[in-house]
Amino acid sequence: MTCPFCEIVKGKEASHVVYESEHTIAFLDIQPLVSSRAHILLCPKSHYETLDKLAANKEASAEIGIALPILAKACIEATNSTAFNVVQNNGEAAGQVVHHVHFHIVMRDGDEHPAV
Ligand code: 5GP
Ligand code: ZN
Repeated sequence: MTCPFCEIVKGKEASHVVYESEHTIAFLDIQPLVSSRAHILLCPKSHYETLDKLAANKEASAEIGIALPILAKACIEATNSTAFNVVQNNGEAAGQVVHHVHFHIVMRDGDEHPAV
């Protein structure tokens, strides 16, 4: 089955890219949890199903660690949000739908939606 995030990396699937490094890419979620708020997905450009499998790629792991706080800061500044969630699902039982490891960064601002 085609991986949508690999297609985004290859430029074959439309997306709004907000950040890119040698081994990582971040783009807007197609279906934001809170429709009025920024919802970004950060993932390695190479395909690894889950976070434990990403451990095999030290460069990508390191760049994910660098990108997360940078993206959090940029999102807060760009949207004036006062709160945010970072969520990461591994495996279907944990709610993972796209099997290409990714981090959700979801801006929150006193909206009515429950915490993730
Ligand atoms: P998961 O449940 O796997 O942690 O989250 C997958 C996320 O990927 C969902 O929030 C979903 O809206 C998003 N998503 C699925 N397909 C696409 C796509 O083709 N493009 C983008 N930008 N986001 C997608
Ligand atoms: Zn993939």
